[in-house]
Amino acid sequence: MKFISTNGNANAVSFGEAALRGLAPDGGLYIPAQWPQLTESFVENIREKNLQEISFELSRLFIEELDSAVLRNIIVESVNFDAPLVQLDDKLHVLELFHGPTLAFKDFGARFMSRTFSALRENTGQDLVILAATSGDTGSAVAQGFLGVEGIQVCLLYPSGKVSHIQEQQLTTAGQNVTALEVEGTFDDCQRMVKQAFSDASLNEQLLLSSANSINIARLIPQMFYYLYGVAQLNEVEEPIFCVPSGNFGNLTAGLMARKIGMPTSGFIAATNANDVVPEYLRTGSFNPRASEPTISNAMDVGNPSNFARILHLFENDHHNVTQHIWGASFSDSDTRKAIGKVYEDFDYVMDPHTAVGYQAVMQYQRTNQGYFGEDSAPFIILSTAHPAKFGDVIESAIKQKVTVPDRLATCLNKEKQSILMENDYSNLKKWLLEKYK
Ligand SMILES: *Cc1c(COP(=O)(O)O)cnc(C)c1O
Repeated sequence: MKFISTNGNANAVSFGEAALRGLAPDGGLYIPAQWPQLTESFVENIREKNLQEISFELSRLFIEELDSAVLRNIIVESVNFDAPLVQLDDKLHVLELFHGPTLAFKDFGARFMSRTFSALRENTGQDLVILAATSGDTGSAVAQGFLGVEGIQVCLLYPSGKVSHIQEQQLTTAGQNVTALEVEGTFDDCQRMVKQAFSDASLNEQLLLSSANSINIARLIPQMFYYLYGVAQLNEVEEPIFCVPSGNFGNLTAGLMARKIGMPTSGFIAATNANDVVPEYLRTGSFNPRASEPTISNAMDVGNPSNFARILHLFENDHHNVTQHIWGASFSDSDTRKAIGKVYEDFDYVMDPHTAVGYQAVMQYQRTNQGYFGEDSAPFIILSTAHPAKFGDVIESAIKQKVTVPDRLATCLNKEKQSILMENDYSNLKKWLLEKYK
């Protein structure tokens, strides 16, 4: 199995190379060159399989260079929490993807990526240094995902004073092989310093550097696992419509990849907040990336979704083809607050703001576009991307109740913050990296 670039001007590479490089040398994103197919019996018997079995069989299809025993071990360590499907009514289901350590679906990608990186670097005999700029959520999933993983050092840059208290606690209290650099600057400054490090030849000769950002193919593969596990938990094998609260569109792309290999599905709903470049593209055929706007579903505040290139590639750059499989809608913060209250009233269920964007999209689909995918009776599966306790203030004002904070979040809130203050200046970062990791 080889991986090619969406830009089409780079050599096909193995999974390991695609994973450790992150971005292809021509600036494109890696995507499988061929699409292996799930067997009929896999799909027919899917309801008898658990999440780890599904995960192992899927990863085996895409990753050839790791032994089965190594791969199995990676799955056991990384997919070590559940993704239950909760039924709200006859047709409506919520797939809860927030049962991992940082209470968001990014745990799937980060945990799997960390362990595959660790297995892949064994051949080099050198420690791998993961360098990442974070504005919040990605960093905490990376910190937790790579925590204690052998042969890997993690260095996270975040903008001082510009992440939420919970996010900062999650970034700075991990310890062990994870170091948080608190940069006196903005997120863009952090990103610029990281980019400079990756393009600095002398630094790269001395350290084995890699990124862990959301465009890495090693994060998309594990995100296919739970789509199939969602199908496996339906009352019978049906072709659900998946609704995906989206920002960078990695999650939705993983669903499209699962469809490519034969997952039963009727279609996908792309749900966004005010950052609606993709729903707009679906409606009009023109893609106009722009600066992002802040919202209460802030992990989806993306104005230029990087995985859009993969989506276009999957549908051969054909707008009509894209719209056959994806329908989109966007919602304001005030509607999202109301939706959180309504879901609580109707179903006694608490949704985080991201998931509530997805809920509204399903409601709108049913009101105005039922039958769009040619399937009137398909069940809906909303991907629930985060635990409501991560957004306590918004939830409490919407449902007039306190949200219970799970232990794994409470623990990190009580730990002492440990970060290293860093001037907004690349030469300082370079000096620090060499002193610490060489
Ligand atoms: C990252 C994130 C999203 C958006 O996922 P994409 O793959 O970037 O589309 C949605 N909800 C939450 C809670 C997230 O952390």
